[in-house]
Amino acid sequence: MKLLSGKTALITGASRGIGRAIAHKFAEQGANVAFTYLSSVEKGKALEAELTQHNIKAKGYRSDASEFTAAEELVNSVVADFGTLDILVNNAGITQDTLLMRMNEEMWDKVININLKSVYNTVKASLRTFLKQKSGSIINITSVVGIKGNAGQANYAASKAGIIGFTKSVALELGSRNIRSNAIAPGFIETEMTDQLDEKTVQGWRDAIPLKRGGKPEDVADCAVFLASDMSSYISGQVLQVDGGMLT
Ligand code: NAP
Repeated sequence: MKLLSGKTALITGASRGIGRAIAHKFAEQGANVAFTYLSSVEKGKALEAELTQHNIKAKGYRSDASEFTAAEELVNSVVADFGTLDILVNNAGITQDTLLMRMNEEMWDKVININLKSVYNTVKASLRTFLKQKSGSIINITSVVGIKGNAGQANYAASKAGIIGFTKSVALELGSRNIRSNAIAPGFIETEMTDQLDEKTVQGWRDAIPLKRGGKPEDVADCAVFLASDMSSYISGQVLQVDGGMLT
């Protein structure tokens, strides 16, 4: 029996990296997968075709996670197309790194809106469906940086810390309705983005991690499968670090 058979999931920002790995693992575990992308249109279309090979229903939607009305339209479309929504993964996120001295208002607003407001947008839009069916698993992708802070990432760290406060508040508000809310805090995960970095710098980061390697998107996706499934039915309000022991 697959862990997510019969469940429908919505994953934001699944055209690349961690979101894409979550979409694949969910489909492997039998979930029907709705996902979003924004600029990577071709990758989004390709993912839809790949996922359907697992004999599940999959559909990509082009939707800006930072837009409140777009999130409402997205969730309405997903519920109309799939008939239900059981799992919501808020993964879409960006960085605009610089020291606070150089961080302008636009850099602050953009990161807060795409990383944090997006989580409010989709959770708010999904609430009616979750409440009606008296179940739901919300998984928000934060970061170890949201726990620890990071020089040069004040906007990103604030957005990720905000996600943790929001996740815990939702768990407290909606636990009595059997709606669970958890966060995953990845450490250093090697994606297309980190491939661009200098190999010597990246090796230095790997050496500083107790498990002596960077994480893979699949490491985060395995944790998401667990939190989405009934295997975690008594877990809510938690932040699970997937960081190889980095922040210990
Ligand atoms: P990534 O490879 O850059 O992928 C980001 C995804 O978010 C893409 O699919 C992108 O879609 C989507 N996205 C960006 N802005 C969007 C918007 N406004 N609306 C909808 N989708 C949007 O990033 P990643 O490394 O996989 O990271 C995924 C999540 O994990 C992020 O929340 C990130 O903060 C978090 N995280 C990553 C790491 C790491 O080491 N990689 C560590 C800790 C936490 P398009 O390309 O279509 O625009």
